[in-house]
Amino acid sequence: MSSGFPVDVPVTDLDVDDETFRIDDYDDDNVSLDLRNLRPSSESFLGKVKTNFFKVFRQRQKGFEYLDTIEMFDRNRSDSSFAELGEFEPVKRHSYKKLYFHLLLGGFLVLLLTISLVVTRNRSGGSVRTTAKPILSNGTHEFYPTTILISLDGFHPHYVSPALTPFLHSLMIGKGYAPPYMIPSNPTVTFANHYTLVTGLKPIYHGIVSNRFYDAASHETFINTNDSVALQPQWWGGEPVWSTAARQGVSSAVHMWPGSEVDYGADLNPMEVDQFNKSEVLSRKTERILEWLDRPLVSRPELLLSYVPTIDTLGHEYGVSGPELAQGLTYVDRFLESVYVGLEKRNLTHLVNMIIVSDHGMAPTSDERLIYLDDLVELDKIEHLDGWPLYGLRPFAKFNVDEVFSEIMEKYRADPQNSHYTVHKKEDIETQLVGGTSQYDSRIAPIWIIPKIGYAITTHKFMEKNKHYAPKGVHGYNNTEVLMRSLFVATGPYFEHKMGSSYKLLPFENTEVYNIVCESLNLSPAPNNGSLPSVLSTGRALPDMWRDSRKYPDTDFDVEWVYETATVDLLWGESRAEPDLKEEEGEEEQEEEKEKEKEKEKEKEKEKEKEQGKGDKEEGKGKPAQGDPDYSSYDDSDADDADSVSDSDSAPTSKSHFSFHDVWESVEEAAEDFIEEVEDFFDGSS
Ligand SMILES: [Zn+2]
Repeated sequence: MSSGFPVDVPVTDLDVDDETFRIDDYDDDNVSLDLRNLRPSSESFLGKVKTNFFKVFRQRQKGFEYLDTIEMFDRNRSDSSFAELGEFEPVKRHSYKKLYFHLLLGGFLVLLLTISLVVTRNRSGGSVRTTAKPILSNGTHEFYPTTILISLDGFHPHYVSPALTPFLHSLMIGKGYAPPYMIPSNPTVTFANHYTLVTGLKPIYHGIVSNRFYDAASHETFINTNDSVALQPQWWGGEPVWSTAARQGVSSAVHMWPGSEVDYGADLNPMEVDQFNKSEVLSRKTERILEWLDRPLVSRPELLLSYVPTIDTLGHEYGVSGPELAQGLTYVDRFLESVYVGLEKRNLTHLVNMIIVSDHGMAPTSDERLIYLDDLVELDKIEHLDGWPLYGLRPFAKFNVDEVFSEIMEKYRADPQNSHYTVHKKEDIETQLVGGTSQYDSRIAPIWIIPKIGYAITTHKFMEKNKHYAPKGVHGYNNTEVLMRSLFVATGPYFEHKMGSSYKLLPFENTEVYNIVCESLNLSPAPNNGSLPSVLSTGRALPDMWRDSRKYPDTDFDVEWVYETATVDLLWGESRAEPDLKEEEGEEEQEEEKEKEKEKEKEKEKEKEKEQGKGDKEEGKGKPAQGDPDYSSYDDSDADDADSVSDSDSAPTSKSHFSFHDVWESVEEAAEDFIEEVEDFFDGSS
């Protein structure tokens, strides 16, 4: 068994892990990221058909490359007919053009007939089942739609800056799909939120209501750092995305993630799970992710998860400022860049989605901002203390909860410092803070002391022993606090399809991530608290004039933060001004800005074309774009092929969102256009 996730230690038991986080020497050999080449512009299907077709004649190369376009739609295709055609020697002399054309046309028609048969049998529920996973190609290898989800524990979006995190900065100002911030779930602690990210459920609905809590129903205490307890399946409700994936024939691999080492039952676990290892260097994570991507299609995971504890660890140890955190941010940024460069080198940025998230932010603590628990409650009346930094109190059974609550309230009223915290009964916070009631209600303590952001609860005994309050940074405060905000930024074909050139999104809650991941892999999500359809719609694009009404850190005390110029302030701060942004970024950045403008123009044109294409499609003239996964199917609620029954010998189940009908129509239309093009060609050249 691994050593659990020794992060987020409770403050009453300040056995802060002594294990010093190692920052290894980062290998700088990686190719630096060129923003201008983030993604090659995609060519239309017809355009590629044209290009490839003319290549056949002009360069005398082997033809039929365009057939990949059609192959990608049918997982169980037969290669034989294509293979034979592929062996066909290119025509050497001009006089053979017509022969070539007829052979080509014949091949194409055979192909259409084959697909027609497959589709017909599939839709009529026949014995041949065609799976809905598109097969894509990076030019050398076949890929199923693939999504990488990377979590940076404790990474506040305000940490992104041009100086410390140039890669994340480039995504935030450029082609990264991102809201200014993502709203974490309460309580804003690691286990609760990581499990929310992969289930779409608020903690009260998935059961991991904190890192450490007592369950009055089972009389057991969940302790995230104790594997013998934390890995028992009964704690973990809902359906994590790796189970959703496994259920629908999509394989996943997890490189450390809270909850991933739990046994969810036969065929519901990830294909592979790496145990938690806090001190692992980040270059190893890059290697692991790329190693998975380099596998052959049959053994390659389509959903990859990776967890990075670095920033949370540094935040607890040093707070939200200082050279250690600054160095850590650059280290993590380079890790992310190395993964992205790995995708670029493999020509995969167009095929693989990469989603970078965090679970919560971080707030600094201080000896000046303490609340003494033993001044408020007689500790020998309390059997269990839950949460952190919010405190849930469970009195021993022999004490009446109401009486204990009244005693605390009496002391609270007499406390001159009582503006630093509030005291509540469970019923009072259920709607606002907990987010509802559920079968896991027994996991919420009856009395709560809730400190204001940046204030910490401790005891006189602890402070006498330790002199100073530690840790220097804490999270777990209300998710409405600016300091608790989390990060979301993504790239990849799914996002391009959904949002086009609307790169920035309105802020959303982290319960949305599960549906986003599912949609990116064409999975039907399990019931959850997120939106369906997902928040990725142009209707939720961030308006150009959007400004953040709250300014980091939004506290009633002074906070020194890690680097003065944060990207989110440059983009959406009150004092946002174009000259400032450019001044900060320097000349090189200005050039990039110009490039960006050009890109934008191009994108706009492309959008126009797309819009036109859409219109055409509605009129029955649309064509699929070569090399792009058919993400249009994500919008389909058509249950046409949702109920296709699987054969025992056939591979993964069909996805209800995928519409073969649309694909088929597109192929038919493309064929017609193609024939016209060819005829025109001959007319022109003969
Ligand atoms: Zn965390």
